[in-house]
Amino acid sequence: MKFVSTRDSSVEVSASEAILQGLAPDGGLYVPVSFPSLETLNVYEVSSYPELAFEVLAPFFEDDILKDDLAEICIDAFNFHVPLVELHEKQMVLELYHGPTAAFKDFGARFLASCMEKLLEKQQRKLTILVATSGDTGGAVAAAFANRKGIEVKVLFPKGRVSKRQQQQLTCWGGNIKAYEVDGSFDDCQKMVKDAFMDKRLSKEWGLSSANSINLGRLLPQMVYYVYASTLYKETYGTKPTFIIPSGNVGNSCGAYWAFSMGAPIERITLAVNANKTIPDYLRDGEYKPRPSVATLANAMDVGAPSNMERLFNLYGDIATFRKMVSATSVDDETIKKTIREVYQETGYVMCPHTATAERVRRDLPVQDDTIVVSTAHPAKFEAVVEPLIGKSVPVPENLASLLSKRSEYKSVGCNYKELFEE
Ligand SMILES: *Cc1c(COP(=O)(O)O)cnc(C)c1O
Repeated sequence: MKFVSTRDSSVEVSASEAILQGLAPDGGLYVPVSFPSLETLNVYEVSSYPELAFEVLAPFFEDDILKDDLAEICIDAFNFHVPLVELHEKQMVLELYHGPTAAFKDFGARFLASCMEKLLEKQQRKLTILVATSGDTGGAVAAAFANRKGIEVKVLFPKGRVSKRQQQQLTCWGGNIKAYEVDGSFDDCQKMVKDAFMDKRLSKEWGLSSANSINLGRLLPQMVYYVYASTLYKETYGTKPTFIIPSGNVGNSCGAYWAFSMGAPIERITLAVNANKTIPDYLRDGEYKPRPSVATLANAMDVGAPSNMERLFNLYGDIATFRKMVSATSVDDETIKKTIREVYQETGYVMCPHTATAERVRRDLPVQDDTIVVSTAHPAKFEAVVEPLIGKSVPVPENLASLLSKRSEYKSVGCNYKELFEE
């Protein structure tokens, strides 16, 4: 399988090339030239999640230098469980938060890290990954790359602007993960990363690379759980489910659309967003207007200019097709709170604010049967929001708890990127 840029389909690269490059040279995002059909694959006969992942992803790595490593990469990356639980009959929740940092980003970050480690080993090269984070992304990337050979990660976070638990998850790794507390804002952190990449000499000398959510290596594994949950649902109930996905940069939902393009038994895909309404407004007005983000309780979805929209436009270019394939509904903070309380009182199930956004959209559908709400984070990560609403504490899962007890270490720096490279 070859991949092309969303802005220029004349230059084709392999999966590995796309993964190492991150962004295409013309600034576009990499997308597959076509989608293999699930019908030709063995997805109904596998006995474990990593095996299913291998079956689904193999066609994308068919002619790639990682072809023979893919099975091992899948076993290494997907070493946690992926439960599809029933909230009411035929109303399911797909829990994507059982990885090391208790959020769905572990799927993409771990797969990317495992691919990169193998590639560098083959090419006898070293890389330095720079990440600026406002909180969660940096933690998933740090966890996924910890102890990987040939890769050093530099994580930048803005001083005093990440939560205590988030800071702990960025600074507890040691070894090949270096954390920097920047005396500035998240924008300053992003600017330092940009400046470092612009410094061609330094960029080459350190082998700078990025691991952000537009990297193809993070997108591809996000198809697999949609194939998994939809085939499991269809086998159980005989009908196709509709997925409702809490969305920000729409990387997660893009995975669902790609799974749909492969022929996964999916009825419909619906995006649930917070007060950042860029996509619902586009569906209403037919005019796409990215904008600055506003802060909400579901803060991992506070995105006004969703970066993966370029991939969705590549699939469904004109507004008529887009409207046919995509629904999106916005949920405000008060309604998120109300939903967390309502679900807990009714079922005893505790949802994070992101998951509650999707649950609200389900509850407002005319028919709730045959739906799967995608749960993107463990509620204990957002205890300050969730606990007062349900009136009790949320136990911290073991994987998170073990991170919280590690020793924290970081370097304080100003806003000049050169400080990141002084040893
Ligand atoms: C990143 C994130 C999202 C949004 O995912 P996108 O791929 O950016 O749409 C939703 N929920 C949680 C908990 C996240 O961390």
